[in-house]
Amino acid sequence: MAKVSINLATGSIQKEDIIVGIDLGTTNSLVAFIDPDKNPKVINDIGKGVLVPSVVHFGQSGDITVGNEAKNYLITDPQNTVFSVKRLLGRSYKDIENYKDFFSYKVIDDDSESLVKIKVGDRFYTPIELSGLILKELKDRAEHALKTPVNRAVITVPAYFNDSQRQATRDAGKLAGLDVLRIVNEPTAASLAYGIGLNPEETKTIAVYDLGGGTFDVSILQIQNGIFEVLSTNGNTFLGGDDFDSAIVDYWIEKNQLDRAELIKNRELAQQLRLKAEEAKKAFAHQSMVNDKIGDIWCTIDRNTFNELILPKVQQTIECCHNALKDAGLDIGDINEVVMVGGSTRTALVKKMVSEFFGRQVHDDLNPDEVVALGAAIQADILAGNRKDILLLDVTPLSLGIETMGGLMDIIIPRNSKVPTKAGRQYTTSVDGQVNMKIAVYQGERDLISENRKLAEFDLKGIPSMPAGFPKVDINFLLNADGILKIQAMELRSGVKQEVEVTPTYGITDDQVEQMLMDSITHAKDDVAQRMLIEARTEGEQMVYTVERFLQKNGDYVSIAEISETTKYVLALKDALVSGDKDLIHKNIDQLNEFTRPFAERLMDQAINTAMKGKSIE
Ligand code: ADP
Ligand code: MG
Repeated sequence: MAKVSINLATGSIQKEDIIVGIDLGTTNSLVAFIDPDKNPKVINDIGKGVLVPSVVHFGQSGDITVGNEAKNYLITDPQNTVFSVKRLLGRSYKDIENYKDFFSYKVIDDDSESLVKIKVGDRFYTPIELSGLILKELKDRAEHALKTPVNRAVITVPAYFNDSQRQATRDAGKLAGLDVLRIVNEPTAASLAYGIGLNPEETKTIAVYDLGGGTFDVSILQIQNGIFEVLSTNGNTFLGGDDFDSAIVDYWIEKNQLDRAELIKNRELAQQLRLKAEEAKKAFAHQSMVNDKIGDIWCTIDRNTFNELILPKVQQTIECCHNALKDAGLDIGDINEVVMVGGSTRTALVKKMVSEFFGRQVHDDLNPDEVVALGAAIQADILAGNRKDILLLDVTPLSLGIETMGGLMDIIIPRNSKVPTKAGRQYTTSVDGQVNMKIAVYQGERDLISENRKLAEFDLKGIPSMPAGFPKVDINFLLNADGILKIQAMELRSGVKQEVEVTPTYGITDDQVEQMLMDSITHAKDDVAQRMLIEARTEGEQMVYTVERFLQKNGDYVSIAEISETTKYVLALKDALVSGDKDLIHKNIDQLNEFTRPFAERLMDQAINTAMKGKSIE
């Protein structure tokens, strides 16, 4: 149902149906939308340009500025100017410890959530709040330019972002007053901007090469039946256009025989040189020589020298492309499309080396720093229902399941399932009169829950007292398109229910996720053996429980001799249970089963007799 709102400026009624696409970048952020002619367009707020530098400055008097204006404070007030906050989103102190010197502002450890915070003056900010400020600026710009309220958005994240980084991005949107309809992978968005994947019939393998300001990543995607699957990602989170700038600065320092120690102290001059270098780099798009001066420092460089300086950096990115292909188990010939993303792919040498490596022409018609936002706008349009023929899906990277008896993982949604997805299973109690059921949710590939990652635990309370096996507890998992999980548990006979939404445990590192996948492979054999033993044990314990209960309640139907014989079999099974030998357990279960089966038959006959009697009307 579309809401209707009134534009106060014009007095006209408008439908509040605009959904924008946002590229929340490490260096620059921007917002795009679908114009009335159905074309994706970036938002250019008059006088401010398209790109919003992802920089936030906190003034003495409590004033906060975002974007170009804030960027100027990087030189004059570095302690109170926050940049590259995307590097901290959803991260724990452990994740960033090794590169904390990179930040000119204070990054601190927050034990309570194992998430970092940023200290500015005497206030603490979370990366979510800071990203929220950038998103708020983008929302304001969009509203100003479009003259309509903007409340809904699709936001992009790198393909390698884990659950907590995605959730943090979502939360940042919420803080900015945006309803985040979907978190989309940046390479997926970039492909969409080029129209790749819009035809549900097509099957393609795509390489997306993204060289931004400070980060590089390459993703190999496969699109099949309208589903984008990330086959592999590779990259370097400290390699980007900034390195090209520093290479030029270093060259000038050498040419002008400047004192490095002096320059480190003279922050203003250092920054001026850096900005000049960035200008020179961009100028090489249309000239082969740059001649400039800062005071009496010559800032001269030609394109060939520039290319020589940056060659090793570009070679590193090509190495990553090679590794990404290898991880995906593909050859260069398997790649059907190559998409260029990120401002730094404007550099001619980068384009040349990438297209040479892949042996094909690359997609570079659109502005590389705008493609991600444009694609996000297309995804927004799809979600708005304006392109009904397309359904874009992603897949979940790790299996989701619950703990069952013996500490085993019972997978409900297997890894690589398409999302959104819904799956469920029915469970029952294992003890008579059990009124609470513990539901523990795990993520991971191992057979034992102790080896997997716990996401949530809750009790389904108030199950009416019934014999074991009688309650019917339906457990349903609903995984939405962002990988956020809702768990519903309901006892069908009584209608008792409980629902939990998983806030994924913040602060898990990429390494940990990778380790989990690796471990599942290394331990596959042990895991299977252990699972079989635990299953045998659980079955044996159930058997003992059932037989003992039967003897207690229905002693009348068995003879003394039968009871003593049964007890012998039960004791033997109990011994087998502690032996750790699954075959021995199975053997004893079978023997006990064999011996006690006639009892159950006898009981059944008796029950039927009674029922028949009840029916007669003499
Ligand atoms: P991010 O994704 O990290 O937010 P962007 O995609 O906006 O970053 O890329 C920013 C980088 O692109 C900066 O290093 C900038 O200097 C570089 N860049 C922008 N325009 C050009 C150009 N014409 N030539 C070379 N590099 C450029
Ligand atoms: Mg980017």
